[in-house]
Amino acid sequence: MPSDISVQAVVIGAGPGGYAAAFYAADLGMSVALVDPDTNPGGVCLYRGCIPSKALLHAAKVISESHDAGAFGVTFPAPKIDLDKLRSWKDAVVGKLTGGLGQMTKMRKITYVRGWAAFADARSLDVKLAAGGAQKLVFEHAIIATGSLPSKIPGLSTDSPRVMDSTTALELADVPGKLLVIGGGYIGLELGTVYAALGSDVSVVEMTDGLLPGADRDLVGVLARRAEKTFKAVMLNTKVTSLTDDKKGIRVTLEGEGVTGTPQVFDKVLISVGRRPNAKIEGLDRTRVKVTDRGFIETDGARRTAEPSIFAIGDVAGEPMLAHKASHEARTAVDAIAGKNAAFEPNAIPAVVFTDPEIAWCGLTETEAQKRGIKVDVARFPWAAIGRAITLDRPDGSTKLVVDPDTRRVLGVGIVGAGAGELISEGVLAIEMGALVDDVAMTIHPHPTLSETVMEAAEVFFGHSTHVYRPKRKP
Ligand code: FAD
Repeated sequence: MPSDISVQAVVIGAGPGGYAAAFYAADLGMSVALVDPDTNPGGVCLYRGCIPSKALLHAAKVISESHDAGAFGVTFPAPKIDLDKLRSWKDAVVGKLTGGLGQMTKMRKITYVRGWAAFADARSLDVKLAAGGAQKLVFEHAIIATGSLPSKIPGLSTDSPRVMDSTTALELADVPGKLLVIGGGYIGLELGTVYAALGSDVSVVEMTDGLLPGADRDLVGVLARRAEKTFKAVMLNTKVTSLTDDKKGIRVTLEGEGVTGTPQVFDKVLISVGRRPNAKIEGLDRTRVKVTDRGFIETDGARRTAEPSIFAIGDVAGEPMLAHKASHEARTAVDAIAGKNAAFEPNAIPAVVFTDPEIAWCGLTETEAQKRGIKVDVARFPWAAIGRAITLDRPDGSTKLVVDPDTRRVLGVGIVGAGAGELISEGVLAIEMGALVDDVAMTIHPHPTLSETVMEAAEVFFGHSTHVYRPKRKP
């Protein structure tokens, strides 16, 4: 066994939580080790999540725009898809980014240990090295950033090459003729969009009564209308009760709204029914770290666990399971280790669904306000009334502000439309800065841009948006 490595901070897992923590701790002058089985840092986000999915969604966007251009007189021959080239390009995107992180790890003089960490006790790890053998790591502080794994459907047999999860779907082995996506959450819809653009007949089955449970229904409604064109079928209030692989394909029994008892046959099935925290770390029971009933590691506001030398961040430490939440928690945990007074207390964590159109929201949603009985005013601006949306031939959008009627503070922002994911940051900034709806209305936005919809939604609040006519209320 090589001699022990002794560091001030060790980070377990090199996703956007883990590598952000390791880099920041090194920038603050700590000696740092980062442990992960992959060749370079990146985690699920870069290798099997955000980045490969967005690379493929970019290709899907180009394909779908080439079809849509016919509406303004520009036609292209049907796109030819070189799947090997597309796959290599996606892999090259991942390689560039993860390779860059590897370089930065070296530049920061972080000890990168390729392997799987197990706790020996609350001050040391035994790492099973990817290259074989083991390495002892002694630490003053550890940050657990082991992320999450795809959830399974209890009772469904999924041991077939025709059944994919998000990881295998991103490998893009082929383009199935008929694909069933189980789960109408963001991962299923994003990957369904990719396969539909590449030529699959995609059907989506969702157990609840709507796509994207948790998002405001008015935003989802706009996506649902376009989804009718993108997907062959969207089956709501419907459950998959069995999957059987036979020679012709995968035979699926569905139960629910508008479904006959006859099994349907698909070439492939993608199971995307959510993600579960990955807190099953060997030896964790040799520490005082606690795990909740839902499998998340329990932490306080500084992301310290019940074991004072150990912190937890990212997907393993709670919802929302998003990369940017993980990397912000990383800073909180490292600040706490550095002895600063740190707490993770954001007013707004943005969520973006990169479908077509995109949906993005932050802060208080209308649904949440209703559920919690919070009195709010909602100001909506339809994209059909803004020049930029018309020039892009994408009037299918809407921007809304959720406002406190007494203080006029912006509490939440919701956007659906092409590029909503880029627009939402203005809402996050407004909420974090405690902006009033007046501030948003008075801020000059560049013309012609989609960002004007945020300003005009604020003007709608006051009843004098330039591009929306609202008859005066009778006194
Ligand atoms: P992860 O990125 O999950 O990384 C954890 C790392 O820990 C992994 O490399 C794992 O191998 C390693 N590890 C686990 N156990 C051990 C151990 N014992 N020892 C050493 N290493 C270990 N989020 C967004 O914000 N935007 C998106 O657009 C988006 N798209 C997504 C698309 C898909 C298809 C998927 C699957 C996820 C997507 N996510 C997205 C979610 C995002 O990937 C996660 O929220 C994010 O990766 C969580 O980061 P993390 O640092 O907590 O852990």
